[in-house]
Parts: sequence; structure tokens; C-alpha cells
Amino acid sequence: MNEQTLSLRLARVAAHVPAGARLADIGSDHGYLPLALLRRGVITAAVAGEVALTPFRSAERSVRESGLEQQISVRLANGLAAIEPQDEITAISLCGMGGETIRDILDSGKARLSGQERLILQPNGGEQPLRQWLMDNGYRILCEEVLRENRFDYEIIVAERAEPVVYSAEELYFGPLQLQARSPAFLAKWQRKLRQKHKILAHFARAQQAVPEEKLQDIERKVRWISELLA
Ligand code: SAM
Repeated sequence: MNEQTLSLRLARVAAHVPAGARLADIGSDHGYLPLALLRRGVITAAVAGEVALTPFRSAERSVRESGLEQQISVRLANGLAAIEPQDEITAISLCGMGGETIRDILDSGKARLSGQERLILQPNGGEQPLRQWLMDNGYRILCEEVLRENRFDYEIIVAERAEPVVYSAEELYFGPLQLQARSPAFLAKWQRKLRQKHKILAHFARAQQAVPEEKLQDIERKVRWISELLA
């Protein structure tokens, strides 16, 4: 992967960035996503935010070598602190981090959100708490995708601020639009998840130490939901 050839995962994220956007890519690492989108003329400007020094320097180098310093500002900052009002950001991507981390970045940076930005989120797990945050903060999920690359299942969640929406517990777990669309990638992911959960339950049954009842009940509830989904 490089700034010209994105991984399938980042290519699918890129497909949800609106034409003409001013993008903030938070946790940008090498900066490949904003670089690819600028080179293709999809976005007009970008901020690449990084909290860690090594990826920050890597993004700085990539941007310098492509001569796009005027259009991409690389910033060493924690989460949404990378964004300033004068950036006039219209889309924010947060990719390749746990869903809880993405949620915490959004929550602690709320004051930096104008409410006009499209959020393009690619959590590695933790989708349920992330969807819960979106619902609690007045975001509607516009689009969802599941894809598989290098033996990993990835989800993409696209959301915008809208009138309040209420998602059920199952919708927060599976994704409200995924539940409706039931794509082959989505169903294959949950078949794998079901096998994993059955293995965990079998392991618990053999365990010497008692498993907390609450934990057991939670897994059993998820097994029931997934079995119903796949029935
Ligand atoms: N977004 C890229 C992608 O999807 O390929 C890079 C993903 S990389 C696994 C996660 C990056 O997020 C790391 O470079 C890490 O330093 C950065 N990161 C984690 N927490 C962050 C935060 N609070 N603010 C900014 N960057 C953060």
C-alpha cells in the first residue's frame, strides 16, 4: 500500500469521502488516505492529525515528497485537537483504531465539531459502543459496509448529524443498515463470530473457575441474536 494504491479497506473509506471535501484524517499514520484523495482531485484540502511522533514524521515526509504541503497540513495533536475552525473541515475520517478509541476521540473533541461534518469511521472492533455514541449525540448512520481483507473483517460507518434517531440494541450491535442489507460479507462475518462465541462458551463450560454470570449471559444473548440473524 502507498498513497497511490490504497488497501481495499482504505479504498472503501475513500469512496465515502464527498467530492470537494476538506478532510481531517485523524490518526493518519503515513497520511496515505488524504494524499491519495488529493492526488485524485477528490478533496480540496486536508489535515492529517497524529498523536505519535513516528507516524507524524512519516506523514510529514510523505506530504513533503509529494509536494502537497500547501494542501495538506500535518499536525502533531491528540484527536480532534488537530482541527481549527479556519480549516473549515467538512469530513472527518477516523480509521484503523478500536471503536472505543474512536468514540473517546469524538467525545473529548466534541467542541471542535461544527455538526456539519460527515464522519467516516472505520473501527477495528467496538462498533457497538461507537454506534451508541453516534445515536446519543444526534448522528444518523447514512451508510455501513463490511469488508474482508487479509483475513480480517472491517466495518465502515458513515454518519452525519441529523434529527434524533433511536436504534434498538440489535441495531447498535449489528448496524441498522447492515441488518437490512444483509450483504454476503456481513453474513460471513457473523457466521465466523458465531463460531467464535460457541468456542468461548465451550471453554467457559470446561473452565475450573466460575465465569461471572453477567459475562456469560451477555455472550449467550449475543449468540441468540446472531443465531436469529442467520436463521
Ligand atoms: N488511519 C490509518 C489507517 O487506517 O491505515 C492508520 C491506522 S493506525 C493503526 C492508528 C493510528 O492512530 C496510529 O498512527 C496512532 O498513532 C493514531 N492515533 C491513536 N490515537 C490517536 C489520537 N488520540 N489522536 C491522533 N492519532 C491517534
